Amino acid sequence: MQVSIPLRRVRWATRLLVALAMGASLVGCGTTSGTEAGDDGSEPDPSADIHSTAPIAVERLAARLRLRARPADRAGRVYIESADGDRILLVRGSRSISVRGTPYAATSDVEARDGTVFVSAADARAIERLWRKSIPTGGAVAGEGQQRAALELPPPLPPAPPSPPTPPPVARVGGTVVLDAGHGGKDPGAPGRSGIPEKNVVLDVARRVAVRLRAAGTRVVFTRDSDIFIELDERAAIGNRTAPTLFVSVHADSAENVSAEGFSVYVNRDGGPAKARSEVAARGILKEMRVTGARDRGLKRAGYRVLKKAHGAAVLVEMGFLSNYGESSRLARPEYRQRMADAIANGILRFLRGR
Ligand SMILES: [Zn+2]
Repeated sequence: MQVSIPLRRVRWATRLLVALAMGASLVGCGTTSGTEAGDDGSEPDPSADIHSTAPIAVERLAARLRLRARPADRAGRVYIESADGDRILLVRGSRSISVRGTPYAATSDVEARDGTVFVSAADARAIERLWRKSIPTGGAVAGEGQQRAALELPPPLPPAPPSPPTPPPVARVGGTVVLDAGHGGKDPGAPGRSGIPEKNVVLDVARRVAVRLRAAGTRVVFTRDSDIFIELDERAAIGNRTAPTLFVSVHADSAENVSAEGFSVYVNRDGGPAKARSEVAARGILKEMRVTGARDRGLKRAGYRVLKKAHGAAVLVEMGFLSNYGESSRLARPEYRQRMADAIANGILRFLRGR
C-alpha cells in the first residue's frame, strides 16, 4: 500500500495539470458569456483548492460550478442544482454519484462530518469534469433525464440504452418474450456495493435486452419499464396474460459472503408444465452468458413465485453478485451491462430459434 501512494500522487499530478488547463479555458468561456460579469470579486477561485487532496465540502464544489447545494435529505441524498433543474446527486455513505443522470462511481465514500457533506478531492475534480462535459443538448436522452429529476427519483442509470453499437444482422426470429425486471419502486432489491441498487441495474439490462430482441423481430412485453413497485403475482399475471414464448425475470444476486460471484439461471424447482422448455432456455442463456467472462454458477432450481406461477416456459437470470465489490463495480458500468444484455438476448434468441 505504501508503494502505491507515490504512484497515485504522480497520476494525480498529471490529472491536476489537465484539470488546470481545462479550468483555465473554462474561465475564459465564462467571462465571454457575460452572465457573471460584475461579481468577479466574490467568485470562488476555481483553482484555489485544486492542489489540495483534502476532501471538499459539497457547498464548495457547488460554488466552483456556480450551482446551489441543497442540505442532505433524510435518506442522505444531497442535490447540487442549477437554476434550470439540472443536478448532481450524491448520497452520504455511498460511492454512487449521478451527474445530470450519468452515473459516476466515486473512488471513496461521500462522507458527512459535523453536518457537512464531503467528497474526496479526486472525486470532486471528476464530478466537475463530468458536469462541464455533459451540457444538455436537448436530445431525447437529456429530455428523459430532466423528467426523472422532476420526479425525485433515486440515482438514475441512463434511462435507456443511449446508442448501443449497431447489432450484427440477425435473421428475424419472432416469438414473444416477457421481460420482468425484478424489484422497483419501494423495493430496491440488493443494495449494491458500488452504490447502485439492484432495481436500477436490472431495469437497465432488461431495456438493453429488449432493444436486441426487438431488432430480431421478437415482441417484448415488460412487467415494468420504470421505477415502480409491482407485486410478484401481478408480474406472473402479466406474463400469463401475454402467453409469451418465454418469461424472463432479470435479477442480480446478493450474499453474506462477499467473495461469492458469478451468474446463474433458475428454473422452477417443481418442474411445472413447461419444465423441459424452461431448462432448454436456461441452458441456452447460460451458454451465452459465459462470454461476459464472469463465473458460470450453472442452472439452479428454486421455488421463486414468478417461476411457480408461470403457465409457460420461464427462467430467472441472476446476473452477478452486487454484494461482491468487483462484480458490483462491473455491473455499475454501462459497457458491462450491455455485454450482459447482449449475452442474455443471444441466449433467449437461441431458445426462440430452436422452438
Ligand atoms: Zn432480485
